[in-house]
Amino acid sequence: DEESSHVFIILGASGDLAKKKIYPTLWGLHRDQLLPKNTIFVGYARSKMSISDLRKNCQPYTKVKPEEIAWYDIFWKSNYYVHGSYDQRSDFERLNEEILLKQNNGNCNRIFYLALPPTVFEPATTNIRDTCISPTGWTRIIIEKPFGKDAESSARLSEHLENLFTEEQIYRIDHYLGKEMVQNLMVLRFGNRFFSPSWSREYIACVQITFKEPFGTMGRGGYFDEFGIIRDVMQNHLLQMLSLVAMEKPASLLPDDIRDEKVKVLKCISPIKLEDVILGQYVGDPHGEGESKMGYVQDESVPNYSKTATYAIAALKINNERWDGVPFILKCGKALNERKAEVRIQYNDVPGDIFEGKTKRNELVIRVQPGEAVYLKMMNKTPGMAFEMEESELDLSYGSRYRNIKLPDAYERLILDVFCGGQMHFVRSDELREAWRIFTPLLKEIEEKDVTPFPYLFGTRGPRETAELLKKNNCKYYGSYKWSPPA
Ligand code: NAP
Ligand code: NAP
Repeated sequence: DEESSHVFIILGASGDLAKKKIYPTLWGLHRDQLLPKNTIFVGYARSKMSISDLRKNCQPYTKVKPEEIAWYDIFWKSNYYVHGSYDQRSDFERLNEEILLKQNNGNCNRIFYLALPPTVFEPATTNIRDTCISPTGWTRIIIEKPFGKDAESSARLSEHLENLFTEEQIYRIDHYLGKEMVQNLMVLRFGNRFFSPSWSREYIACVQITFKEPFGTMGRGGYFDEFGIIRDVMQNHLLQMLSLVAMEKPASLLPDDIRDEKVKVLKCISPIKLEDVILGQYVGDPHGEGESKMGYVQDESVPNYSKTATYAIAALKINNERWDGVPFILKCGKALNERKAEVRIQYNDVPGDIFEGKTKRNELVIRVQPGEAVYLKMMNKTPGMAFEMEESELDLSYGSRYRNIKLPDAYERLILDVFCGGQMHFVRSDELREAWRIFTPLLKEIEEKDVTPFPYLFGTRGPRETAELLKKNNCKYYGSYKWSPPA
């Protein structure tokens, strides 16, 4: 309501995520006047810093147009900073006093963003619960992946949080759920009569969900080496997309109705088997330039004996009436030939062929990034005198269809949702539990068997061995489709 005020507290304000993402996002929301009136920001970390230090840290990651500078100053005037430890109750009592001092009178809500290494999650959240709960409004907690390293550690973390907060207070961020095209999946599927009847094993041969990055770890492989690509991308971002592609229609758009369906479809997936997975690790390209000369283990922050996968492809099945037998392929990797994230739905071959085997399978592609687009690859008569056919497309490219629209950044959307109390695009604890159930046995087996990933050259599509897995899983590639971008 009009009277209430909000305090947004960033724990770990001196860190990487804070300067690269959180402060720039808060500035973006402030600039666009999307935040409630009377919102202030309080940074907290052990380092002794001033607001101007903080502002300097964020500078390289913040876009400010010349005409916005006065407004940007006002943003920083609403910022405060408190230094203290993560494990001392008395420090958090001081933080609480500072918040009370700076906030407006009247109702005051608090949001705590934990931009901290997981090692200090437990003491920090305990201290928030004991000393920093808003006496006059709601209190919400935002946390970031990794939500544990496996089923056990994740369950421990969930249990710890459940003892302190209700599920309604906890906002687990998977920033893929803040992306325009990921949010569009529900509308495409449930708002279009022509998609819904064909969205099943009767019509669909396979589904591929892909994440590709054209760069490697760039000297910052320390964190990555401990987690690997499966934990970093596949178990969270790709599985979230999968559940939106595969779930049944929810009873309503209420967050818990949607999340109930996501959990239900995950429950139909058995733990992934090692035989349905191929792992890769990039090696330097001697003819490449810059970073691409370097293989993963040449990254100084990575041990030279590391077997951590930088590429993974996994085939899984959903054992329900809709999807029985349809392979869902999750694939992700670093140091590949391009940047992209997409969902690719490949339809079955046309039965009762009258075209002498010339038809190629239809594909519906939902491209999440870069260049949001939905396109349907289809057969078309080659224009002209002859009766020939070729692949063409129905194409909805956002760049041309929605020309003057600026799509909000995923973090901006999600942080605003936290202010509004909308949990639709956040991960519920039972969803997380199912995700770890599917991946933990595989991760353990990879570790126990000390599986050596296949090498692939920096800048290629990944290990050659993936072709076999795709073939085995009823995915066809023709290599004949030619795209001609609009003039
Ligand atoms: P970070 O920079 O390593 O740490 C954030 C702050 O925590 C540091 O500035 C430091 O502040 C404090 N800190 C660091 N190590 C500590 C330790 N061992 N004990 C106590 N305090 C320590 O981390 P981050 O990259 O910002 O990431 C924060 C969280 O977001 C992590 O859970 C991370 O996995 C997650 N995340 C990060 C990114 C990203 O792009 N960076 C992306 C996705 C998720 P003081 O020393 O001043 O207290
Ligand atoms: P495509 O060239 O037929 O490729 C389809 C998929 O096959 C690719 O995603 C790729 O998977 C895989 N593939 C590529 N080379 C392969 C190989 N040698 N062996 C086995 N598999 C291979 O169709 P497309 O990628 O949908 O479209 C081609 C280009 O046109 C793309 O750059 C696309 O962005 C562009 N296009 C843009 C729009 C638009 O902007 N609206 C519309 C249509 C097409 P991986 O992901 O594993 O590499």
